[in-house]
Amino acid sequence: MSESIDELATRLRDARSVVVLTGAGMAAESGIPTFREEQTGLWARYRPEDLATPQAFARNPRLVWQWYAWRREIVRHAEPHAGHLALAALEGRIPSFSVVTQNVDGLHQRAGSRRVVEMHGNIFVDRCFREGDAVVPDDPQGEPPSCPRCGGPVRPGVVWFGESLPEEAVARSNSLLESCDVLLVVGSSGLVWPAAGFPGLARSRGAWVVEINPEPTESSGTAHLALREKAGTALARLAEVLREP
Ligand code: NAD
Repeated sequence: MSESIDELATRLRDARSVVVLTGAGMAAESGIPTFREEQTGLWARYRPEDLATPQAFARNPRLVWQWYAWRREIVRHAEPHAGHLALAALEGRIPSFSVVTQNVDGLHQRAGSRRVVEMHGNIFVDRCFREGDAVVPDDPQGEPPSCPRCGGPVRPGVVWFGESLPEEAVARSNSLLESCDVLLVVGSSGLVWPAAGFPGLARSRGAWVVEINPEPTESSGTAHLALREKAGTALARLAEVLREP
């Protein structure tokens, strides 16, 4: 495994443009559960796929709002781990270095990454459910609060299953992927589109593709190298190797 890390470090030292695609597994070591893990506590009897949809919110806005209030609390108390910090440090070493994340937790930015594309929004932004605009509710205690402009319900500003992604984020990601030398895919199952297509797109344009995930995924076949390790462990070790002269 150390040879693989060495090879990755060499590729990164030579790279002009690197993209890191992160999924829910990137935040698992910060204590934020992925959707595929069993949920715990009060919410154990719900499946995230049944709550994170516009239909679920239309049916029972209070339930979905409360679930997100609980998730926000988890995120608020979470800290970026060694892997987030390693990615933030890498940004200063490579001419073009970007994180494209499916996570909504803001941990990359808190770790110090500045070039971050949020494909699925951010859990701390609120949006009007009717009009889609970002809003600051004037009755934050409501469950859900109401939109200060139209009085409609306010929803979390994240992309739910079955919804389209923000166009600007998709356009930026595509352009970064088409021109990168190395793509690192960290903690992403390869099941959620369009991110599932990113490894194939980058590889078809000549990028070297690496997967960091303890489990094989749908994208494993597209990767040149797979590190079967947790994100924090692998990225912290990578940072160490890169610090060596
Ligand atoms: P996903 O499809 O990105 O799958 C999670 C992947 O992480 C799996 O392949 C798993 O093997 C891997 N993994 C687990 N622990 C890991 C670790 N320590 N290191 C590296 N990899 C690890 O994510 P999902 O759970 O299906 O979530 C779907 C969508 O839900 C996400 O794309 C996101 O929008 C949202 N979500 C966000 C967060 C967050 O912001 N932290 C958390 C859960 C879900």
